[in-house]
Amino acid sequence: MPAPTPVFDYDYDYLIVGGGAAGLSLAYHISQEPRLAGKTVLLIEPEAKDQNDRTWSFWTAEPHLFEAVVAHQWHRLAFRSPGFARVLDLGPYRYQTIRALDFYQFVHRALAADPRFTRRRGTVEELADTPAGVRARGSAGTFAARYAFDSRPPAVVPNPARHRYLLQHFVGWEVETDADAFDPAVVEFMDFRGPQHREARFVYVLPFGPRRALVEYTLFSGQPLPKAEYEGYIVDYLHNTLGLAAGQYRVVAEEAGAIPMTDHPLPDRAGAHVVNLGTRGGRAKPSTGYAFRRIQAHSARLVGALAATGRPPADPTGDRWQFRLFDTLLLDIMQRRGETTRDIFRQLFSRNPVGRIFRFLDEQTSWADNLRVMRSVAPGPFLRSIGQVLRGRPGRRKA
Ligand SMILES: Cc1cc2nc3c(=O)[nH]c(=O)nc-3n(C[C@H](O)[C@H](O)[C@H](O)COP(=O)(O)OP(=O)(O)OC[C@H]3O[C@@H](n4cnc5c(N)ncnc54)[C@H](O)[C@@H]3O)c2cc1C
Repeated sequence: MPAPTPVFDYDYDYLIVGGGAAGLSLAYHISQEPRLAGKTVLLIEPEAKDQNDRTWSFWTAEPHLFEAVVAHQWHRLAFRSPGFARVLDLGPYRYQTIRALDFYQFVHRALAADPRFTRRRGTVEELADTPAGVRARGSAGTFAARYAFDSRPPAVVPNPARHRYLLQHFVGWEVETDADAFDPAVVEFMDFRGPQHREARFVYVLPFGPRRALVEYTLFSGQPLPKAEYEGYIVDYLHNTLGLAAGQYRVVAEEAGAIPMTDHPLPDRAGAHVVNLGTRGGRAKPSTGYAFRRIQAHSARLVGALAATGRPPADPTGDRWQFRLFDTLLLDIMQRRGETTRDIFRQLFSRNPVGRIFRFLDEQTSWADNLRVMRSVAPGPFLRSIGQVLRGRPGRRKA
């Protein structure tokens, strides 16, 4: 006698918890997959997402699903540090910027037009993995689904004796100038020429036109600064690097943020039926803070497996251990001797083609290219941090 078909009691096929970058990306990828045409999806998000709360920038060599909302793109990028400066042609790559509000509205419109999707305002407080699926409870109500994809911010209890905790923190001013001040063809990717204060500090500029740009003062370090300090360095850049005088520019918008950079374990699933997304699932690259493209690759991987097999992949992210080790080593160096970071990036940019650096940071390089990248940087700091990794103890700065 054939085994009885299990009867599942659930309201939706998929529950997406959180409608920020990761939740909305997954929803949109599902909406574009014809093999999932029969699936129902509930997306729960507490906020209206009607503000431009951030700007995502990233490099890409491939066309992607969000080309329609790319606000700006560049084909050249500058790296500058004392003794070395170069403007690099990106070849097949483009550096792109998406305003979060454009992205939210674009995905909201697509989901509103698709009867498979239900969006609810509210929170999920409890998410339980059950034998048949998941059960979720919160201010939005109680729901059952076959699979859940959870992008709530992770609840990390730091363990500094085992892991490294830094932030990529920044304040940016979008400025308008009276006269031409920017080269709109070139992103200032990292300008490390300012004082480092035993940390990694650089200026990042996205020029939207000759008289309009986002100028950001960025650090990779343990603690945020008082806001006035970032602003002082932005003013210093505008006056002393660009030669502008007070009164020749206006601040038209501001951005500030702090993205965790950590090797704290962020599991990619929380049970047989719960997959973690976005920052919660470790999609912010520990050594750079870049997450948007990793979120897209993750969404594509999940949707590909759901469409082909009916379930998420056994290995939801496909992360490779050697890149995890590189991230840990770089974080260890940043924590132990932050000012060395500038030298490492200078060596990377002066001794590798930019495509290889991007592929390495995208975790797509071969072993041979990984070796080339490792041989392009001075080995001393890495060897000391390998010692720390082997001892199982993060490096600390010696006074
Ligand atoms: C200011 C800023 C700038 C950044 N710039 C870049 C960049 O240029 N390039 C790049 O690659 N990365 C960038 N990042 C990093 C990363 O891409 C973003 O943080 C990205 O938004 C992470 O996506 P996420 O979905 O994990 O988190 P979010 O986009 O923050 O989404 C999480 C969602 O979960 C919701 N939520 C919270 N609690 C609950 C609950 N209980 N129930 C249901 N929902 C809940 C939140 O309201 C939120 O909408 C930036 C980050 C910040 C903060």
